[in-house]
Amino acid sequence: MAFKIFNTLTRKKEDFKPIKGKTVRMYTCGPTVYNFAHIGNLRTYMFEDLLRRYLDYKGFSVKQVMNLTDVDDKTIRDSQKEKIPLKNFTEKYIQAFYEDLAKLRIEKAEVYPKATEHIDEMVQIIKVLLDKGFAYKADDGSIYFSIKKFKDYGKLAHINTDDLKAGARVKHDEYEKDNLADFALWKNWSKDDGDVFWETELGKGRPGWHIECSAMSMKHLSNAFKKKTFDPDGFSTIDIHTGGVDNMFPHHEDEIAQSEAATGKDFVRYWMHSEHLIVGGKKMSKSLGNFYTLRDLIEKGHDPLAVRYVLLSIHYKQQLNFTFDSLNGAKKVIEKFHDVISKLGMADGEGIDFKAKIKKTRKMFEEALDDDLNISAALGAVFELVKEINTLLMENKISKANAKDIIAALENFDSIIGVMKRDENLDSGIEVLIKKRDEARVKKDWAMSDKIRDELKSKGIVLEDTPQGTIWKKT
Ligand code: AMP
Ligand code: ZN
Repeated sequence: MAFKIFNTLTRKKEDFKPIKGKTVRMYTCGPTVYNFAHIGNLRTYMFEDLLRRYLDYKGFSVKQVMNLTDVDDKTIRDSQKEKIPLKNFTEKYIQAFYEDLAKLRIEKAEVYPKATEHIDEMVQIIKVLLDKGFAYKADDGSIYFSIKKFKDYGKLAHINTDDLKAGARVKHDEYEKDNLADFALWKNWSKDDGDVFWETELGKGRPGWHIECSAMSMKHLSNAFKKKTFDPDGFSTIDIHTGGVDNMFPHHEDEIAQSEAATGKDFVRYWMHSEHLIVGGKKMSKSLGNFYTLRDLIEKGHDPLAVRYVLLSIHYKQQLNFTFDSLNGAKKVIEKFHDVISKLGMADGEGIDFKAKIKKTRKMFEEALDDDLNISAALGAVFELVKEINTLLMENKISKANAKDIIAALENFDSIIGVMKRDENLDSGIEVLIKKRDEARVKKDWAMSDKIRDELKSKGIVLEDTPQGTIWKKT
């Protein structure tokens, strides 16, 4: 079946088809590295993880580029506040970001380009925009994109530019639709920028935020910079560009304007935007101060995999209301997966024909994800299977061969869900102790068996003896 995705550009679900063969070139707007990512940001990266995992599952070869915004209004403001050079300031948060992604099992993008390492590419695009008459230098020495000159301006966010006041300009990176105006491509140095500037053909200054993503996506996903200078003919339309819904305007609208004006080609084929994570009815954001980082939650004793599950399990186009109840619920779901896999590993029952049931579940799972990544329905299909397996295990009907097939199917589903595999380091140590305890029990060495149980308990692990054997859980 075709994989359908909702394209923000057309506001329709469309069949997904890459521009060239089976390769998918995907650009995801990455973090602004001026603080730790909060779980709202991480929800967006989780949606992109789901997308990339499913494209992979469908047999596509994904090249994902996720940029790191390491120079913009906010990074400069906060590095100055802390009196730390911009590079050292952002590096700390870049490393923390990678750690968060690893803890959440978010698959790595192929490239993580930094804005500060692409200034030359940005300058080259801006020069083309000046030459073509889409950009102009204002009195303050900064360079702006003239949105009236680009006839398709507003096509992504569906805004009308008719009422635009001629000459209105906005220098800040972020602004509301009400402040629709010519936006800054290059910001002439001002004393507020301190030591953050580049001496370029455009003058002494720094780039605006939007041009950063145009330059990095073209550089890493097309041949626009294969020659020494910017080559619009080398650019080919990018397959997918993603971000949170707040990126749609002005960031993505401005990216389209500058990129299409510079190349004369469509910038992106499919635009995808995930909805926000909210708390108490409000968008989680740094400015509102209503946020949790992954570190906060781990410190409170939560398992990063439970966070993964919460962020993943609601359809990306629906707002996700974060609560601690949902986190506790996620922990139970993951335990259920771990329990059933442990029991299957020890199952040795009569055996039944289970292949058709697995096939049906796989079909439901894929149909759900083919429908614009309907993960809730896909999970529903897997839960139904797990429920049935548990009943059959209780009745001792699952044979070794059945178990092997079922485990393979669950592993296949987990290539998308990503929570079933246990932490291997932890796992192997515990397995050794459980084995020792089993041996002690066979020898009726109850003192040793109790000692091991207590030792595990002190490590936060409880044992449960089931008909299939001993399984364990974290308390
Ligand atoms: P930033 O670091 O502010 O540039 O944001 C990084 C990504 O997180 C962007 O794609 C934003 O759209 C996304 N984002 C910001 N806040 C939220 C939220 N509350 N829920 C979901 N995504 C968010
Ligand atoms: Zn971006």
